[in-house]
Amino acid sequence: MVKANAYGHGLARAFPGLRATDGFGLLDLEEAVKLRELGWAGPILLLEGFFRPTDIDVIDRYSLATVVHCDEQMRMLEMARLSKPVNVHLKMNSGMNRLGYSPEKYRAAWERARACPGIGQITLMTHFSDADAPRGIAEQMAAFERGAQGIAGTRSLANSAATLWHPISHFDWVRPGIILYGASPSGVATAIDGTGLQPAMTLASEIIGTQTVAEGQTVGYGSTFTARKTMRIGVVACGYADGYPRVAPEGTPVIVDGVRTRIVGRVSMDMITVDLTPVPQAGIGTRVELWGAKLPIDDVAAACGTIGYELMCAVAPRVPVRAE
Ligand SMILES: *Cc1c(COP(=O)(O)O)cnc(C)c1O
Repeated sequence: MVKANAYGHGLARAFPGLRATDGFGLLDLEEAVKLRELGWAGPILLLEGFFRPTDIDVIDRYSLATVVHCDEQMRMLEMARLSKPVNVHLKMNSGMNRLGYSPEKYRAAWERARACPGIGQITLMTHFSDADAPRGIAEQMAAFERGAQGIAGTRSLANSAATLWHPISHFDWVRPGIILYGASPSGVATAIDGTGLQPAMTLASEIIGTQTVAEGQTVGYGSTFTARKTMRIGVVACGYADGYPRVAPEGTPVIVDGVRTRIVGRVSMDMITVDLTPVPQAGIGTRVELWGAKLPIDDVAAACGTIGYELMCAVAPRVPVRAE
């Protein structure tokens, strides 16, 4: 799954590392076209399908496969003039309650799809809400089995969490996303210990200034941090305009010169302030890792009340990217 510009990694940058796949899944038609222009001739699945009849022209021209999750999409395909049939993932709503046909309506939808000359292969598909959580997938698996009973065709159910933790759901296609980029589907970094997964992205910068603040002095906008003793503060060139979350509270982990320390004070547009107490050797030019190889993105995300997915996707276009 390479939606959202390969989870913020850049589709073109991620492509060489992922081209051994059997297929790609994404959302935007533009990204699908980009993937074709990068030389990918295999399957590309549009995960939300399409939104208007003109989208179908692009699907046809670039030989894309598409999710069909509602009768409106089915109707558009029935009305479309195509040069060849489109392969479809017919989506069932097995309990997530976002997109898809209910198990009760699934068979009728499948029969309608099968009767549509514009539709080629039909893959049976659903998406899990809790594959990374205690609720698990049993209820949705049961709903899927019920809705898909007696229907032949390849099946695609598993996201990253189900790929890792629920092999019973693998069937013909798995749809891993977050694990391709080396982060945890559950948002807990230790959950992928022992899998061999490595973070693909490191967000790094350096210290561009230092301050020694006395007891009682404050740091940053709103004076949210007050020094309890004399201490050194490092100013890091990275802020919310780079995609570092402004909500990151005091104590959010950061690595300075290989040492784990914490941010203090508010995240600004272009700067973060960090506690240099455990890193006395740090000065201007010292390397800072915001997340990545030494600091799981999940740890930073957890401190911010979110998940690694959101941080990855939010890295701003202005951040220079280096391949390593
Ligand atoms: C994003 C997405 C996935 C991948 O989810 P991860 O949790 O990143 O593995 C799988 N299937 C669908 C339909 C998706 O939209």
